[in-house]
Amino acid sequence: MFVGVGASRVRDLFKKAKENAPCLIFIDEIDAVGRQRGAGIGGGNDEREQTLNQLLTEMDGFEGNTGIIIIAATNRADVLDSALMRPGRFDRQVMVDNPDIKGRLEILEVHARDKKIAPEVSLDAIARRTPGFSGADLANLLNEAAILTARRRKEAVTIHEIDDAVDRVVAGMEGTPLTDGKSKRLIAYHEIGHAIVGTLVKDHDPVQKVTLIPRGQAQGLTWFTPSEDQGLVSRSQLMARIAGAMGGRAAEEEIFGSDEVTTGAGGDLQQVSEMARQMVTVYGMSDLGPIALGGGQGDQVFLGAGLTSRAEYSEEVASRIDDQVRQIAEHGHQLARKIIRENREVIDRLVDLLIEKETIDGEELKQIVSEYAEVPEKERFVPQI
Ligand code: ZN
Repeated sequence: MFVGVGASRVRDLFKKAKENAPCLIFIDEIDAVGRQRGAGIGGGNDEREQTLNQLLTEMDGFEGNTGIIIIAATNRADVLDSALMRPGRFDRQVMVDNPDIKGRLEILEVHARDKKIAPEVSLDAIARRTPGFSGADLANLLNEAAILTARRRKEAVTIHEIDDAVDRVVAGMEGTPLTDGKSKRLIAYHEIGHAIVGTLVKDHDPVQKVTLIPRGQAQGLTWFTPSEDQGLVSRSQLMARIAGAMGGRAAEEEIFGSDEVTTGAGGDLQQVSEMARQMVTVYGMSDLGPIALGGGQGDQVFLGAGLTSRAEYSEEVASRIDDQVRQIAEHGHQLARKIIRENREVIDRLVDLLIEKETIDGEELKQIVSEYAEVPEKERFVPQI
């Protein structure tokens, strides 16, 4: 095993490989050395470039079938030096996406092998509850659950530990809840705002639970059951998500007035802007029509390229984009405010309940809301554990 960079390490690696052929060379995190050369600001990193050059030279040095196969892994294939991808070098790409439900179940089975899990816990149900989780997330999930089990002095991992571990993996460590007071009420209205809009807008993912127990950066959280099929999302689903994300701020405005709104909606608004901008510039879902405007996502991440590439549209189009983004966000905002205004009675009841119980689960929430308003049937249903 070779760790670190350096041209001599690469030479040694290939020398050893040739002695041991037939064999496989596996390079993890190839982007650490294989990043596009010459794009760094103020000159490249010499040692890294030399390592890359040596790697390219060695790969070209294969004559005929030397019995050496090189495999490399990266999360950022887009930043790799184009020379690496030429025929004869890394000329096959295999995308390893986040696992589907079957994949997740199999990964969970691997990581559950060395853990004591209570017999009533179904790995299948955990797999169902975790769309979008990567293999590393799933491993982390079971580790966290095991730690919680030990801390609670239990014999085996139960559903409660799994449940808490999912929350922790998704949203960070649990904090201490606020004591009752004005700010707790405001946070409760904010979260119920998300939850009620999410419940009453037809194409929104169903609410899984609302809680006032802080986690990570958040003072309160509304969880939505993510859908399994994360491939295609319709315009109406995106509009629903925008309205849902606006629900928190809308509730603050409707209930406490626009002078009392808080910084708590900062993250929500950022999400809204991102979604709305992508709808306009990437997915062609606005009045500007079905055109892609500007580079794809991830441009900014690669600083060197971001500074040199120019926008592919005029100033005029840029201001029309801003205009469309604002319109989409405002549409969601107004829809959220309307829903809050029209459902004030149930919102007040839910807020009292939330302050009392600190967590309301999705089924109970839906039950209560349906006493006051018609709750649209959500298509997808992911069973909870
Ligand atoms: Zn919020």
